Amino acid sequence: MKAGFVNIFGKPNAGKSTLLNALVGEKLAIVSPKVQTTRHRIKGILTTDAYQIILSDTPGIIPEARYKLHERMMGAVKGALEDADVAVLLLDVQDNWEENDLLFGSLRLKVPSVLVLNKTDRVPPAKLEEAIAFFRDKSYAKKIVSLSALTQTGIPDLLAAVTDLLPEGEPFFAEDELTDLPEKFFVAELVREKIFQYLQDEIPYEATVLVQEFKHKSTLIKIGAVIVVQRESQKAIILGEGGRMIKKIGSEARAEIEKFLQSKVFLELFVKVRPKWRENDLLLREYGY
Ligand code: GDP
Ligand code: MG
Repeated sequence: MKAGFVNIFGKPNAGKSTLLNALVGEKLAIVSPKVQTTRHRIKGILTTDAYQIILSDTPGIIPEARYKLHERMMGAVKGALEDADVAVLLLDVQDNWEENDLLFGSLRLKVPSVLVLNKTDRVPPAKLEEAIAFFRDKSYAKKIVSLSALTQTGIPDLLAAVTDLLPEGEPFFAEDELTDLPEKFFVAELVREKIFQYLQDEIPYEATVLVQEFKHKSTLIKIGAVIVVQRESQKAIILGEGGRMIKKIGSEARAEIEKFLQSKVFLELFVKVRPKWRENDLLLREYGY
């Protein structure tokens, strides 16, 4: 069995959403609120007897920044990709190859990646061959797959390439846990969004939010979430003077969560210091594996 996190990255319009839909289909596609700032935005989970692929995408690239990404955005993208087990680097084969090469190369990824040439339905075979030749020797293109996300040709090739690079391991999520996962994840994302809004610099990127309690009561939903940081100093900043910062994050996040869940919510936030946490390990533990 192979299992792991797979993150899809590419410029706007490369076809990320279309590819995610092609991969997970309507059934498991999770509709995300407009959160651009998160490490893993889980979009779907593909489970078979042979593998579990947990698909997410990266924070959006500011379109006007093009490939000269704002440093911090680039940090977030790189962070998200390196938290994954496999990165899928997607480009529209009709787009500028050099520009995409610069973008992908500048990530200097340490995780294995698959280069995906999308929209093959739009170019003649000779052009596609030329593109494959252009990317063949690039360090981030260990494997190259060409496909059309729109017409859904070449999807099995991508799954084979990704599965080949996935680590051996048991599934992270049981099939029957999938139903309330989206809600839990989005609640965590909404808390994270507030952390991004109010705290600067490295804190948002080094903090993760785990929803540990999610209980439907008669008049409200009781949610307990823990914000995990790496250092005591970060904990102090998140708490704020006299606990004012965490109160602000909590009350604003609660308002958003209530809108999202369409229910009254009681939200309890805790902060925990865990040096060098790995998000995947925490997720594993949270879901009881
Ligand atoms: P994203 O910005 O990376 O999420 O890109 P989208 O998935 O929204 O796709 C951008 C546009 O490209 C949309 O109009 C899609 O229909 C189109 N598109 C995506 N994949 C393909 C493909 O394989 N072939 C063609 N012809 N169009 C595609
Ligand atoms: Mg999209």
